[in-house]
Amino acid sequence: MPRLSEVIAALDALWPPERAEQWDAVGTVCGDPQARIQHVLFAVDPVQDTVDEAVRLGADLLITHHPLYLRGTTTVAATHFKGRVVHDLIRNDIALHVAHTNADTADPGVSDALAGALDLRIVGPLVPDTTDPAGHRGLGRICELDHPLTVREFAAHAAKRLPATAQGIRAAGDPDAVIRTVAVSGGSGDSLFGAVRAAGVDAFLTADLRHHPASEATQAATFAEGPLALFDAAHWATEWPWCEQAAAQLDEISDRHGWDLRVHVSKTVTDPWTAHAASSAPAPTDSSGAPN
Ligand SMILES: [Zn+2]
Repeated sequence: MPRLSEVIAALDALWPPERAEQWDAVGTVCGDPQARIQHVLFAVDPVQDTVDEAVRLGADLLITHHPLYLRGTTTVAATHFKGRVVHDLIRNDIALHVAHTNADTADPGVSDALAGALDLRIVGPLVPDTTDPAGHRGLGRICELDHPLTVREFAAHAAKRLPATAQGIRAAGDPDAVIRTVAVSGGSGDSLFGAVRAAGVDAFLTADLRHHPASEATQAATFAEGPLALFDAAHWATEWPWCEQAAAQLDEISDRHGWDLRVHVSKTVTDPWTAHAASSAPAPTDSSGAPN
């Protein structure tokens, strides 16, 4: 069985911490470098449900995409929900390691896994990392569909291929417009609209889309260079495919080193949204009673 320090060195080769954004908090949150590792669990969120899953599994190492402490802390007392997570991890000899923006831009990275889950053919990064001579690393991915789909059909396709959440998939744009090219970005992608428009794609799938950025992006695209469809998925659902991709990468490393790791992917849905009701009220009408 490898030591934690050996496993971390392998993870750092996949997702070099120095490639994380300046504001990010990646790397090992807790864990003894000398500890022996056999069971590893990948998850999106370092929340209590995921830690409980790691304890049930007998995991020695929990690897999450999101940081536990993005902005630092002055206490890990178990009187706080994050302190409780730290206590439960340490008491059960479970290390916690985070690969966040360094995994987003990696090759393969979070958006490669998302594109793979959606059966898309990857053309290249949406925002290329200029330090990568191969041109594979960067934020988001520009993709092509093997067979064009309408906006309505692609929304249904994404809802079928991404893990189930209460939110499902919201789409913006003419439901009958045909999509041949789509940009994807795991997690909150509404800062990427400029790159999406520059890429000239028919659609953009990401998470956490807000009214004003979404409205302005669709209006601007329609006004200038043709319609842009948007697909808003649950944040967790867009990043969970990375867990499977990362688990396969670590499995391959384990085989190569003869480590005999048991690598698992969390089955816990940690998207914070837990219920969804489709509108059933009538559309607003004007004073004459005619539909607006
Ligand atoms: Zn995220």
